[in-house]
Amino acid sequence: MGGYFSDIFYGSKSLLVGLGITFREFFKPVVTVQYPYQTLKMSAKFRGHIELIGDEEEKAKCVVCGMCERACPSGCITLGSVSIETEVDGKVKKKKVLSKYDLDFTKCSLCGQCVENCSFGAITFSKEYNLASARKEDFHFNLIERLERLTHSEEKNA
Ligand code: SF4
Ligand code: SF4
Repeated sequence: MGGYFSDIFYGSKSLLVGLGITFREFFKPVVTVQYPYQTLKMSAKFRGHIELIGDEEEKAKCVVCGMCERACPSGCITLGSVSIETEVDGKVKKKKVLSKYDLDFTKCSLCGQCVENCSFGAITFSKEYNLASARKEDFHFNLIERLERLTHSEEKNA
C-alpha cells in the first residue's frame, strides 16, 4: 500500500517539475534559427572553401606566383595565366595576369596551407556554408567567376 502512494507522490512531483520547466522556457526568447529564412553570421575563424580577394579595381589581387598551388597537399588548385604588355614610365613591360583559378573542393581538407603561403593576401577562407549536392561537379569552383559575381552583387546591394 505504501508503495502505491509513494508512486503517486513521486509521479505527481516529476510531472509538476516538468511542467515548471516547460512554463519557464515558454517565456524565454526563441533561440532557434528559422533556416533557410534566417541565417547566422559565421564567426571570424570559420573556414569555408577558399576564395579570391579583389583589389581596389575589383580585380583579383593574385599575382599568379603559384605558391598556393604548390603548397596544397591535395592538389586542389589549378592556376592559369596570360602574359600582357603594359607601359610603365614609357617602357613596355610584360606582366602575368590570372586567367584561371579553379578549386576542386572535393579534395580540400581546409588545411589552410594555401592561405598561409600566399604572401600577397590574395586568398582567404569564405564564409560559405550552404553547400549541398549529390554531384561532385558542384564542388568544382571557378574562383575568378565567383569573385566577379560577388563584386557585382555587392554593387547591386550598395
Ligand atoms: S585549404 Fe589545404 S587542401 Fe584546401 S585548397 Fe588550401 S591547401 Fe589545398
Ligand atoms: S599564392 Fe597568392 S598570389 Fe600566389 S598564386 Fe596563390 S593566390 Fe595568387
